[in-house]
Formats: sequence, C-alpha cells, structure tokens
Amino acid sequence: MKYISTRGNNQEMTSAEAIIAGLANDGGLFVPDEIPQVSMEFIKQLADLSYQERAASILGRFLTDYTQEELKGCVSRAYGDGKFDCEAVAPVTIFDKLSVLELWHGPTSAFKDMALQLLPQLLSTALKKTGKKNTVLILVATSGDTGKAALEGFKDVDQTKIIVFYPDNGVSRIQRLQMATQQGGNVAVTAIKGNFDNAQSGVKAIFSDKAFAEKLDTMGVSLSSANSINWGRLVPQIVYYFSAYADLLKAGRISLGDKISFTVPTGNFGDILAGYYAMRMGLPVKKLICASNSNNVLTDFLNTGVYDRNREFFKTISPSMDILISSNLERLLYHVTNDAAKVAGWMKELAETGRYDVGAEVLKDIQAVFSADWSDDEVTSKTINQVYNCKSYIPDTHTAVAWEAARKHIIQSENTEEMVVVSTASPYKFNESVLTALGESIDGMDEFQLLDKLAGVNSNPIPAGLESLKNAQIIHSDVIEKDEMIKAVETFAACK
Ligand SMILES: *Cc1c(COP(=O)(O)O)cnc(C)c1O
Repeated sequence: MKYISTRGNNQEMTSAEAIIAGLANDGGLFVPDEIPQVSMEFIKQLADLSYQERAASILGRFLTDYTQEELKGCVSRAYGDGKFDCEAVAPVTIFDKLSVLELWHGPTSAFKDMALQLLPQLLSTALKKTGKKNTVLILVATSGDTGKAALEGFKDVDQTKIIVFYPDNGVSRIQRLQMATQQGGNVAVTAIKGNFDNAQSGVKAIFSDKAFAEKLDTMGVSLSSANSINWGRLVPQIVYYFSAYADLLKAGRISLGDKISFTVPTGNFGDILAGYYAMRMGLPVKKLICASNSNNVLTDFLNTGVYDRNREFFKTISPSMDILISSNLERLLYHVTNDAAKVAGWMKELAETGRYDVGAEVLKDIQAVFSADWSDDEVTSKTINQVYNCKSYIPDTHTAVAWEAARKHIIQSENTEEMVVVSTASPYKFNESVLTALGESIDGMDEFQLLDKLAGVNSNPIPAGLESLKNAQIIHSDVIEKDEMIKAVETFAACK
C-alpha cells in the first residue's frame, strides 16, 4: 500500500516514510491510496482476541511495509506493560439504551494516549526500517494535555528525543506537575515566560528555520512534530472502533453484521475520521455523529456544506474541542471526492478567506454517513448531572457533549441500532467543571482536594497517574524567555 497527498503532488511513500515525514511536501496530508477491506469472518474472530492482538491485525492492513513481528512489538510496548489501568485497554461499558467506549485508561487519563502511546513506537521502528541514522527530536508547544501525552509516549523510545514548551502561567497546577515531574532519559520540559500563542509561534519559527535544521543535521538530529495530522497518530485510532464492535458481539448485545452508530466528541476531526476508515473497511456502521461544543464550525459544515471559521471563538468547559480549524477534515474530503485538485482548492480558500463550500453533491455523500449536533456549556453541565443521577456514571465534559448528541439522535431517528458514545477523558481530568455540574461546592479547594472530592462520588478511583503527583519529585524547573527557545532546543539536541 502506498501513501499519497490529499493535495495531489505525485509523491508516493510507504507508511514508514509517511510517518517519518508527517506532512506531504505540498502541505497536504498523507492518505492510503486504497482502503483495505475486511470480511465479517475477520470481524467475528476479533471478538476472541486481546486489544493488542486486534491492534496488530488491523494495523497490518494499513502499514503493509511493517512486518507482523514489528507491529506486535510496537503494540505491546504501547499498550502492554501495565501502561493502561485495565487489561481491555479500551473497555466498553454497556447501559440500557447506549454503550460507552472508554478511551481514557492510559497514562494521562485522556484519549490522546491511544495514539500517542503507539506513534513513537511506529516512528522508531520506521527509522530502523528505512535506515535513517538521525535522532528525531520531537518539538511540542502545549497548552497542557497533548504535551504530557507526548512525553509519556516518547519517553525512552529509541532514536527519539522530545522537548516540550508550555506557557508558565497558562496551564493548571496538575498539568504543570504532570510535566515537571516527567521521567525519561530523552525528555526535556521547559516553561516559557509568555502565553500558549508565544510557545506555539516560537516552535513554528524553529521548524521553519532552514539554517538551524542544517546545523542540527550536522549533529545527527532532525526535528519532527507529534501533532494529529501524522498518519501514525490516526491509524491507531481505527482499532478501537473495531474493538468496540467486537466487545458488543462478545457481550451478545449485537449479532454479527448488525449496524451500529458512534457519537464522537470532536475537535480536530481525527477521532471521528478513524471511525470513517473503519466503516469504509467494512465495519457495519450506520451513522457517525459528530458532537461539538459552542465552537460548532463542524456542526454547521455537516449541515450546510459550508465550512466557515470566521466566527467568534469560545472558551468552554470542554477545552480539547475548542478548535476552529479541524485539520483532519481534509482527509475526509479527499476520500469522499477522490479529487485532490478540488481538495487543494478548498484548502487554499480556507487559508485565504477562512471559508469554503463543498456544494450539494459532496454534502449529500458526507451526510450519508455523518450527522452533527452541538451543546453549549449549560446543557453539557446538565447532561453530566442527569447521567450521574440516572446511571450513577460520571462522564467528563467532552463525553457529556457526545452523550447529549447521542440522546437526541436516538429520540429523533427512533433509532433501533446500538449507539456507542465515545468517551475521551476521565472525569478526574476535568474535575472542577464536573463537580460544579454535580452541584458540589468547590470553594477554595486546590486541585488535589478536588480529586478527593470527586472520588467521594465516583465509583472509579483516582487514576494512578494523577494520584501519584501529590508526592512526585520535580525534575524540570527551567523557565526561560521566549526568545531563548531555539537555544534550549540546540542545547538539548547536543546532549547525548
Ligand atoms: C483531543 C480531544 C478531543 C477531540 O478529538 P479530535 O480527534 O481532535 O476530534 C476530544 N476530547 C478530548 C478529551 C480530547 O483530548
């Protein structure tokens, strides 16, 4: 299988090369040139496999240049070894009218772990396979969650290093502790005096500095990013759609061949797009419901065919979905139209005017699979409260956005198919908003008191990664000026 750009240059790559490159050289995203097909028999046999075995088997369909041995090694280093707090890795919890796919049992208690545990393994293996000798230095600017998940994924992975910059005053106390206590022989974490935008533009400037790249190259180092447009971050996510189906089969909740629907809390469109790939491979999926918060640019797009980012930006209680440009949508447009020139045109319009219109025909094809809905913070809080009261289960703020969209879909469509709500974070991660939604008073509490308070009402314990922060040792305490970032990268690159 070859990987090609959504924007139509004639670059063809193996999956290992695409994972090393990240972005195509015309600015497009890498997509497989065909979508592999699986049979019902294949889906049926997944039911008896572990998550790791399911993953190796599905990844093998896309990463055809990796051997099964290599994939098994990658998967076991990513998901084995007690890295996830339950053996199922991505368990499904079944309720009366719907099921919940929990993607937050990894080291940082949010769904980014599903991809960021595996991407570093795929990358390190890709470097070995292609004979590349340089060390890849991953450069990350973070407003909190992605930085920690990337650090956990890359720590002590061969032929890689990672440096994370975060705004000194722009992350929560828990997020700061998570990063400042990060272990690993190949990691650096540095706070900068400034906000997230300063960190991000600093990182962008370093990436586009050609002279600096050449200097690093003489030191045997290449820069790369771990952001969500890398194929190596998307492909791990396809696995859990199959895994959920297999678990529902095993539980007798559905029969082989029954169609099911997924509701996905969406930001950058990576998670839900993985569901689309699963469906195109042959997983029986009826609908993929895209759930947004007040930044509902995708709801409007999926309802009208017009993508328009020229709108007010809201800070919400589901911050990981506070996004106005959903990069992975470009891959969907490519697969729906099979027309790279069209996609390139829309992306040019988006860059120049912030808007594009795909027209009625393309919209119809998209709506055959996708529908969309959104909730504001008030409705989201009410949903958390209701779910807790009715089911004794506490969804986090992002999951609650999806839960509400799923509930409305079930009523409106009088649907009879199984509905799976994709749950993307542990409620402990967003404890303040969750406790407020539950009507608990939190006045004057620090973050550890908030964790304990939530533990008092939640049947799941505080995740080990958060609990252990109370006594963890601070390892990274540097705070630098924003114009010192490039020097910090160089110094770290030179460290053996
Ligand atoms: C990143 C994230 C999302 C959004 O996922 P996308 O792949 O960007 O659509 C939703 N919920 C949580 C908790 C996240 O961290």
